[in-house]
Parts: sequence; C-alpha cells; structure tokens
Amino acid sequence: MSNRKTIIAGNWKMNKTPKEAEALLGDVLNVAKGAACEVVVCTPYVDLPCACAVAKGSNVNVGAQNLHFKASGAYTGEISAAMLQELGVGYVIIGHSERREYFAETDATVALKIGAALAAGLTPILCVGESLEQREQGIMGEHIRTQIKIALADVAAADMGKVVVAYEPIWAIGTGKTATSEQAQEVCKLIRDTLAELYDDATAQSVSILYGGSMNAKNAAELLAQPDIDGGLIGGASLKAEDFGKIIAAAK
Ligand code: PEP
Repeated sequence: MSNRKTIIAGNWKMNKTPKEAEALLGDVLNVAKGAACEVVVCTPYVDLPCACAVAKGSNVNVGAQNLHFKASGAYTGEISAAMLQELGVGYVIIGHSERREYFAETDATVALKIGAALAAGLTPILCVGESLEQREQGIMGEHIRTQIKIALADVAAADMGKVVVAYEPIWAIGTGKTATSEQAQEVCKLIRDTLAELYDDATAQSVSILYGGSMNAKNAAELLAQPDIDGGLIGGASLKAEDFGKIIAAAK
C-alpha cells in the first residue's frame, strides 16, 4: 500500500475571464468540500490573483499552466516562478502537449522549467504522452521514456516527492476519446518503472502519476481504480463544477 497523494487537477486552458473564474471557482469550492483527495485548479495567468484570493483557506489549490525558466529579464510576455509563488500558486503544469505543439516547447525547455518550479517551491505537473502515430508505429514507450529522462535529468531523488507526472496521450486530449483503463495503466506503470530505473523503487512508488485525456464524470472511477493511476488532469470536464465534483468524488 503506497502513501501517494491522489490528485484531481483541472486545466482550464484559455477559458474564463477573471469574473467568470471567480464564479466557477466558487462552485468548485462547494463541490470539493470534504474531498478525500488533493484538488487543484490551473487557471489562465490573469485569473490567478482572484483564484488565489477565493481559494485561500479552502482545500482547493491553485495552479498555473506554464512558467518561464528564467528568474527575470527581457522575456516579453513571460511569467516567472517567483511571480507565481508570491501570488500563492502551489502547482504549475509543465510541458502540456498543447504547449509542445503550438509553442515549440521541447524536452530541454521542459527540463529547465521543472528546475525553476522546484527552486521556487512550486509543484510541477510534468506532462508526457504519445501521438496516435507514435502509438501505431510502436514507439510509444521509447518516446515517453525519453520525455521522462530528459525532463528529470537534473532532478535529484530527494526532490522527486515534489514532482507530479501526468500521462496524457495526445490523441485523447479534447477529443472525447479516452484511453481504456488498461492502456492508461500500462503507460502509467511504464512511467513508474522508468522512475525506478532512474532513481530507486521507493522514489518511484512515492510519485503521484495522473492520467489525462477526456477523463469525465462517467469514466473517472474506472481509470482511478488502476494501481498506477493516482489521479487525473482534466480539461473540458473541469469547466463544469458538477462534473468536476463527480470526478473528485470518484477519487478515493
Ligand atoms: C488536458 O488539457 O490536459 C486534458 C486532459 O484535456 P481534456 O480533459 O479536455 O481531454
């Protein structure tokens, strides 16, 4: 029996103005009351001050969806880890497939961002996952192992307790196509085995590994029942408090 944290994290992506965020977060706070798991909502940057104020003193944690790896300087449009930390943000998604695909993020920049998050005391949610093409070509495992190895190259075993990994098959994100619980378990176990190889078994057993990809109120319980799935990273369904609440309730 492991003592890993079960985490249900919402990724609002580029949705909700600050006013809308305040209303949705109020509803999330209600459905998250008494939750048996850690609850996180990752909002757009401009919503973070309001989200941190609304969530203060509650059991809901606020996360960002990205950060820049430099501490400060001439990086127009970017946000540093210290800026997030000062607001009261606790988590940050790093290397989401949409950032890799549309904003040219690489495994190397993901590694730098993980380092910046940890140095500022933020919990990084490292996203990895294969495309449909990679799955069909039989190179899924190799691809995910490479993503993990590069992203964590500079992370010491002692810091791994502060890292969360999310397995997000690209073909399942925002498509309504969910990985079967067997497919999701297979890759989450592969990730844990890779962590055991890079560090040691105890370290690998301590890391929370989430599944993300069209998780919803109906399929959450079966996915979350898998031995190596310790929670979910939820996009679309996190924008509806009622559905998000059902997913939270499914996480024991
Ligand atoms: C995500 O954005 O991380 C995600 C899993 O989205 P969705 O739940 O909408 O597939």
